[in-house]
Amino acid sequence: MISIGEAQRRVLEDVPVLGTERIHILDALGRVLSQDVQARRDVPAADNSAMDGFACRHADIAGANSANPKVLRLIGEAPAGKPFPGTVGQGEAVWMLTGGMIPDGADTVIMVEDTRLEGDQVVCLADPGHGAHIRPKGEDVRGGETVLSRGDIIRPPEVGMLATLGHAYVHVYQRPLVAIISTGDELVDLDEPFVEGKVVCSNTYSLAAQVQECGGIPLSLGTASDNAADQREKISAGLRADVILTSGGVSVGKYDLVKDTLSALGMKVKFWKVAMKPGKPLVFGTIGDKPVFGLPGNPTSAMISFEQFVRPALLKMMGHVNLFRPLIEATLAEEGPKVSGRLHLVRCKLFEEDGRMMAVTTGTQSSGALRSMVLADGLMLLNPNDGPFVAGKVIKVQLLHTNSPLSPHSPYE
Ligand code: AMP
Ligand code: MG
Repeated sequence: MISIGEAQRRVLEDVPVLGTERIHILDALGRVLSQDVQARRDVPAADNSAMDGFACRHADIAGANSANPKVLRLIGEAPAGKPFPGTVGQGEAVWMLTGGMIPDGADTVIMVEDTRLEGDQVVCLADPGHGAHIRPKGEDVRGGETVLSRGDIIRPPEVGMLATLGHAYVHVYQRPLVAIISTGDELVDLDEPFVEGKVVCSNTYSLAAQVQECGGIPLSLGTASDNAADQREKISAGLRADVILTSGGVSVGKYDLVKDTLSALGMKVKFWKVAMKPGKPLVFGTIGDKPVFGLPGNPTSAMISFEQFVRPALLKMMGHVNLFRPLIEATLAEEGPKVSGRLHLVRCKLFEEDGRMMAVTTGTQSSGALRSMVLADGLMLLNPNDGPFVAGKVIKVQLLHTNSPLSPHSPYE
């Protein structure tokens, strides 16, 4: 049985980076740039005023203060977007509005609060210093400079930067279409009546949500029974997708037929069974160049296997450079579980105490217990060789949520 690290390497070696597409910047949030983006021009395009005030020559107001004011003659104005057409000469001033272009001849802006206007006389009551309140041309970005790079994730600031640089459209990596097929005679879907002895098919939904969370497009193809012909039909329908996920039927039970079905459809098996708990019976291979993941059916096994193998694979396909959830160190707040054999991925809650990150398990670790996923902030990665896991021991925890947890407190309370 191969280790989880080796299995992950084999998966990532086999998944391709998808092609690119050109999309509008407003559709680009969360996508990955497939191109470098150069600035076509300086930003700002010209020296402009950072304040409401008056543009002048610094020499004319040097040393000004309220006891010794300097007086300038107002010759015009330069609101934002409407440059003053003339030149500022000795003893002259142009009324500036924030963002207005600095007129020729001027080298300094004195802010309105440091002046008094009397008719066309600008009485200057302070010396702001040479060059004050001017945002120089190219201060933010120089023309020709590479501002964004291939592999960058497009967040709101990148959307703003693309707009600033004049790009309405941008090239990004495509999103994978991910076919999802649940298998099992016992499954009923949400539009079917529930009968005792049956199990509601939740994997189709949790897996679809996981695909969405990492930016892929789920294609739910419903449920196949534990019957080769039915499985072949349903899984074949998934071959038009970029990735195929099945859940259930990959263990060693009498009705676990998915591996055979996938082989019959031409899958080259890259590995079957990984030394992890939960999630051991995972099978991975390719049909043509399409990655196929046969995930175990237990709801937490399916989700945790997705986290370890499918999520990094989908992120790679979408051009992401960083593929893995962050790993942190935490201290066991109470005795951890007894572990033996394989690497255990234990659902846990995290909390801070005296400046330390503490971890406790979510309770039952049954691989059917979906509630443990609902409660979990992360997964303790417990290698049996490092045990026993006594209270106070420092362990590694893989965080399961991308965003920092939201706080109930406003910083301004
Ligand atoms: P299997 O991997 O097919 O042996 O399934 C293991 C366990 O997971 C069984 O108890 C199944 O009922 C359950 N299971 C399998 N598929 C699903 C599914 N799509 N949704 C919820 N539970 C499932
Ligand atoms: Mg089954």
